[in-house]
Amino acid sequence: MIIKIANLSNGVHCFDFDKSAVDLELEDPFTGFVKTSVKLDKSAHQIVLDADAKVVYSFVCDRCNADTDAEINTKFKLVYIFSTHKVESEDINVKYLTPDIDKIDFSGDLREYLELSLPMKNLCSEDCKGLCPKCGTNLNRKKCKCKDETVNDIWEPLKKLKNISN
Ligand SMILES: [Zn+2]
Ligand SMILES: [Zn+2]
Repeated sequence: MIIKIANLSNGVHCFDFDKSAVDLELEDPFTGFVKTSVKLDKSAHQIVLDADAKVVYSFVCDRCNADTDAEINTKFKLVYIFSTHKVESEDINVKYLTPDIDKIDFSGDLREYLELSLPMKNLCSEDCKGLCPKCGTNLNRKKCKCKDETVNDIWEPLKKLKNISN
């Protein structure tokens, strides 16, 4: 993810990258290719980089243990400020470019943003029914017989209470 800036004119430039997760040194759970669209806005004092990246990652569903692939998307903005001397930036999204630098490499930033966008919860689908706690049947695929019993067990005390109050 390197963009040569030495001869880049002022104004907006767009770039598309298609790089494998392996080449980007992205490890598990990332897989396949990282597709990144970049909009660069160069002016006399700075370059503003807007990136929008997509990649597929593999995981095991928290509820039903199914192997699943899903796509995540991350967007971030980096600001490169031209500076005649080296400055340590406090903000991770603000970087300084000294005159000897002729290209920018945002691979490290992209890696970090993708890793941060991995969800804490991994579900094969929002309404995954999970596994039966009694027999282990994957309830997304079929119903098991113990399912109804479990449901009855949960509601039985409530029904009794309801009868009493009636
Ligand atoms: Zn699931
Ligand atoms: Zn069951």
